[in-house]
Amino acid sequence: MNSLRRLDITYLKGVGPSRAELLSKELGIRSYYDLIHHFPTHYIDRSKIYRINEIKSDMAAIQIRGRFLSFNVIGEGAKSRLVALFSDGSATIEVVWFRRIKQIKEAYRLGNDYILFGKPTEFNGTRQLVHPEIDASTAITASQGLRGVYPLTEKLRARGITSRTLFTWINTVLSSVPAMAETLSDDVIGSLKLMRLRDAMLAVHNPSDTDVLNRARFRLKFEELFFIQLNMQRNGLRRSKALNGYRFPRIGNYFNSFYSRCLPFELTGAQKRVIKEIRADMATGRQMNRLLQGDVGSGKTLVALMTMLIAVDNNTQACLMAPTEILATQHYETISKMVAPVGINVKLLTGSTRKKERKIIHDQLSDGSLHILIGTHAVIEDNVVFKNLGFVVIDEQHRFGVMQRSKMWAKNVVPPHVLVMTATPIPRTLAMTLYGDLDVSVIDELPPGRKPIRTLICYDDRREYLNRSIGRQLAMGRQVYIVYPLISENEKLDLQSLEEGYERVCETFPSYEVTYVHGRMKPAEKDRRMQDFVSGKARILVATTVIEVGVNVPNASTMVIENAERFGLSQLHQLRGRVGRGADQSYCVLMTKLKIARETRQRLEIMTSTTDGFVVAEADLKMRGPGDLEGTLQSGMAFDLKIANLSGDGQIVQMAHDRVEAVLDDDPELEKPIHSRLKTTLDNMFERKIDLSRIS
Ligand code: ADP
Ligand code: MG
Repeated sequence: MNSLRRLDITYLKGVGPSRAELLSKELGIRSYYDLIHHFPTHYIDRSKIYRINEIKSDMAAIQIRGRFLSFNVIGEGAKSRLVALFSDGSATIEVVWFRRIKQIKEAYRLGNDYILFGKPTEFNGTRQLVHPEIDASTAITASQGLRGVYPLTEKLRARGITSRTLFTWINTVLSSVPAMAETLSDDVIGSLKLMRLRDAMLAVHNPSDTDVLNRARFRLKFEELFFIQLNMQRNGLRRSKALNGYRFPRIGNYFNSFYSRCLPFELTGAQKRVIKEIRADMATGRQMNRLLQGDVGSGKTLVALMTMLIAVDNNTQACLMAPTEILATQHYETISKMVAPVGINVKLLTGSTRKKERKIIHDQLSDGSLHILIGTHAVIEDNVVFKNLGFVVIDEQHRFGVMQRSKMWAKNVVPPHVLVMTATPIPRTLAMTLYGDLDVSVIDELPPGRKPIRTLICYDDRREYLNRSIGRQLAMGRQVYIVYPLISENEKLDLQSLEEGYERVCETFPSYEVTYVHGRMKPAEKDRRMQDFVSGKARILVATTVIEVGVNVPNASTMVIENAERFGLSQLHQLRGRVGRGADQSYCVLMTKLKIARETRQRLEIMTSTTDGFVVAEADLKMRGPGDLEGTLQSGMAFDLKIANLSGDGQIVQMAHDRVEAVLDDDPELEKPIHSRLKTTLDNMFERKIDLSRIS
């Protein structure tokens, strides 16, 4: 298998340099290995032959057998097309080509038997097949079973590369490697009764029936998920062995006096448990890498603060990094106020920190008198030097790249403990695959006294009613968010609807100050406008999703989401989390067009039925709306999945996870002969990737 990675597809029969370049650009296929790992997305039953008089234009791809009656070129130059009449005795159908006309005309003869395969369409009332696949009918036997449909791009199609072409190339490769080396070890294959690799590869590209196909796909999905997790878990193990971290044995004065004198409320049970988990980790002497998941409003900031105090109690410094200036400032204000009575020195460093203040921060960081630094990306810069950085907290992790996080590591000889906080609830199976090397803590309880947010779906024709409700909230002194989707494909239109919405709101509520923000604004202006809302000066904020992350305005009681059907569930949940932070009843209104598809309505109904972020995230994974969770997360992953999919294959993720654990328990470095295949495969698989094991 590994040798296939080194075979360049340029030299495969029928490919050549220019197609090779296109394949690489369009599909990332460079080697034989890549090619045979290009899997069909679905399969079509090719044992069934339809009669032309049965064909309807809403059918999926079908197969017919018959003869060409005529070929005619219609039109001229770039606009010309080739139209053939094809008959099977029951009726005739038009077959149309827009490209490669000359080659097509030369390739097929009137009077010969052919099998055509494609999706029927209708044009001006005439049924057509456009660019079908064509086989001489003798080449097909009824036993051919299922035929895979391979993903392609328009550019490849324009160059005459079809699903069929890929199929042929793949089979050329498969038949040229009679002995494909197994990648999984015999104990793993045996215990799960998996198909052998070569059999699975042959079957996934040439399945004889669904049963065999399912077994083949299972084997390949398992393998894919297994190696990702093997890599991750092995790195995690190595790191915990190799990297000594700070040992924080004690809880000292700062923590204790904060706990007894400053805590504004009782900690929730979940907060207590999570603080304990973190504390235990920090006491081991191993460097901590922990992911803290907690729904919006679950009180992560306090956990961050209290664990930072543990670091300070053990004579080190702590740093809290947030993705935006507003968030950093908000953290700074909350935290510095809370710790003022216990004499902790906290400072804020962002892009707009003045030179003089910056100098003070640098000095205090290097002489150790600054205990806690809070900031944006600015804290990563090389000239920010700590005396002894013991603990780093990173808030809202998806906004930070892996590389930026790694820079925090480098700020100390002894790597600091790292706590990554995220409000995106990640379903367990997904977390296993994405963060297999991180320990995970979960705050699964909201502070008491919160009234659950009431979520309603509101159709466009009820806008009057909505406006009256908003008016009532405003009259009670509350603030309101109105959010518009902004999706890059038609950014102009989106922006226009935001601006129109803003004007409409201004007209409807003339006595209240309204402001608006969107992602295309200059950051300084955006910050200024956000600040107006945070301070309460503006009562209504019209915005795109820039407000999604983290702002805390407890006085805001209503979240209106326009075109809610265009958002993914997890995104809706994040937005909803902006309200319900005070003691009053809060509302989230999902505005939609009157006519929405049934699935869309079902998706939105999940939002009205639960406020539990994990339930929402699970549903999001299953239902896959626009901007779904998997897509968002996948863009941050260090690998792509070729056949498994994290939403549908949760069970296989779990099986792979358990198997990997068993293997590593028995043989952490994969030194035993029985695991030699695993080791070789892993080494080959990740040789060119950056070493992510040092970063989290
Ligand atoms: P998030 O997890 O979304 O970052 P925050 O840390 O911003 O949540 O907390 C949300 C709100 O809940 C804050 O106003 C905070 O003061 C409050 N809070 C946090 N912990 C508790 C608690 N144990 N009891 C009551 N209120 C709390
Ligand atoms: Mg937060």
